[in-house]
Amino acid sequence: MNPRHPLTILSLSAILLATAALAAALPPLPPPEATDQKTPVPPVITAPPNAAPSDAIVLFDGSASSLANWESTDRKNPSPRWTLEPATRAMVVAPGAGDLRTKAAFGDIQLHIEWRSPAIVKGKGQGRGNSGVFFMDLYELQVLDSYENPTYVNGQAGAIYKQYPPLVNASRPPGEWQTYDAVFIAPRFNADGTLATPARLTVFHNGVLVQHDMPLRGPTENRGLPRYVRHPAKLPLRLQNHGAGDLVAYRNIWVRELSFPPAPPIPDIPPPPYAPAPPPKKIKK
Ligand code: MG
Repeated sequence: MNPRHPLTILSLSAILLATAALAAALPPLPPPEATDQKTPVPPVITAPPNAAPSDAIVLFDGSASSLANWESTDRKNPSPRWTLEPATRAMVVAPGAGDLRTKAAFGDIQLHIEWRSPAIVKGKGQGRGNSGVFFMDLYELQVLDSYENPTYVNGQAGAIYKQYPPLVNASRPPGEWQTYDAVFIAPRFNADGTLATPARLTVFHNGVLVQHDMPLRGPTENRGLPRYVRHPAKLPLRLQNHGAGDLVAYRNIWVRELSFPPAPPIPDIPPPPYAPAPPPKKIKK
């Protein structure tokens, strides 16, 4: 192309004119403030290192008084009879003492919980450090000593039991403390009792993402497929007492009840595309 050719100059001029016309037809780029959201202001909390955030509900901190936040599923004796371990501020599954569930009920929560499987390995597969965290008394996040301990993958540590295996096996060796940090969103039911939206679960195991916003297929079942049946909007959190040899310990258990503000309104400004931003002003030296 010869840039000095009259036709070339004409076509370049046409392109420039067309671009200018297009820009003139577009709405101007809104100022930054047009998309600033001022309310609601997020509440201020404190989040100290290695401690519960200030807006958390501490369910167990090693004290006898916090053990009183729980009750046994043993109807004949609902007192929480798991063993306190003062040196580690933990409680340990006590054979024959039933599962423990909170006296309080919860719906959508963030959960932090620390657990430890027995240092001395006995048994294998599902018989080795088996316990579980049941959200809403119904939906199990599996606790198992899965360190070099093969079993069915949707039953290993970090699995949503019999529904989803964890993305990775982030297990620490037997006897070491491990953490679960989870976000559980309760299922919603329609007025006629049918399922509106399933429960959803996100889990970090020892800080590693193992479940991401997984839609649960229903309450945990060991045999057969799960099926949703309408239940209250809030139910207790439950810890499983699996078997006589599964002496799992728990400590530092807290939850934050979650509520989600409605989606912010879309600002009352024209949608893109916008006219190009004016060139920045030159700063005089
Ligand atoms: Mg279990």
